[in-house]
Amino acid sequence: MRFSKLFLVCFLAWAAPAFSAIRIVTSTGDLADIAKSIGQNHVAVTRLTDGRQDLHQVEARPSMVSKVRQCELVVVIGMELDGWMDSIIRTAANPRVIHGKSGYLDASVDIKKIPSRVNPNAPGVGDIHRMGNPHYWLDPMNGIVIADEIRDRLVQIDPKNTADYNRNYEAFSQSIRSAMVGWRASIAEVKDLPVLSFHSSWDYFLHAFELRNAGTVEVYPGMGSLGVDLAALKSKINRGDYSVLIYEPAQAQINAQLFKHLEATRLKLTPLIPSVIDGSPANTYKNLIGHNVSALRSALDSAR
Ligand SMILES: [Zn+2]
Repeated sequence: MRFSKLFLVCFLAWAAPAFSAIRIVTSTGDLADIAKSIGQNHVAVTRLTDGRQDLHQVEARPSMVSKVRQCELVVVIGMELDGWMDSIIRTAANPRVIHGKSGYLDASVDIKKIPSRVNPNAPGVGDIHRMGNPHYWLDPMNGIVIADEIRDRLVQIDPKNTADYNRNYEAFSQSIRSAMVGWRASIAEVKDLPVLSFHSSWDYFLHAFELRNAGTVEVYPGMGSLGVDLAALKSKINRGDYSVLIYEPAQAQINAQLFKHLEATRLKLTPLIPSVIDGSPANTYKNLIGHNVSALRSALDSAR
């Protein structure tokens, strides 16, 4: 009996760090990486998607529900981008992470938002950006805003480690700000070349680096080739209105016919990575931004 008690005490002591870590579930890999940077060894972070998926269209799975059921903090992009998280949170019925509780963080709250290009009230158009453009994490300065929000929330949930959260936030913020100087310098020479995006995922990114945003191929956000006037688009391309087209690989697959036409033009087609993917050049938030800056710089160089 004495042995069993001793064993139990030892087991609990051994298991304590894992049990006391604050479990965070994020909708995206970017939020996960930032949360890990701020929480470090005080948190255990799980992301529900990666950058290969279209974040507008994610299917909720039972495994996602069980992760949310057991966590202390959920972080979402908000603005309806990851609206699929709502049903997961509802089904999980974890009272710590429902809307309005300290365990629910909508990271868009403190973001200066870029409005949608399309009138959300236009008849017959399902605008997936009706709350404004939700792709804000692609501006590195917004990465710092997200980090600040996560820091505040961790301090609220776990005040005893406030000093660590503050220190980690300062380190993250400093690291992004220093990298930003290099990123801006590396792309400054090509900033006058007009960049066309397939979807408006890149509005915040282009704005952050003062690049020329020449609009989108999509007429309606998320509707692919619907309403695209190919002849008019081709004549603008021939006129030199655009230098490169940036897009996400999934968009080329879904709109294969349209991309076939675009590949036959003088446009330099350039895939970028919209969200962190493990084991890729964009395996952290900072590497995601760095990879995209470098890929776009190369594309613009070759389009000059
Ligand atoms: Zn979008």
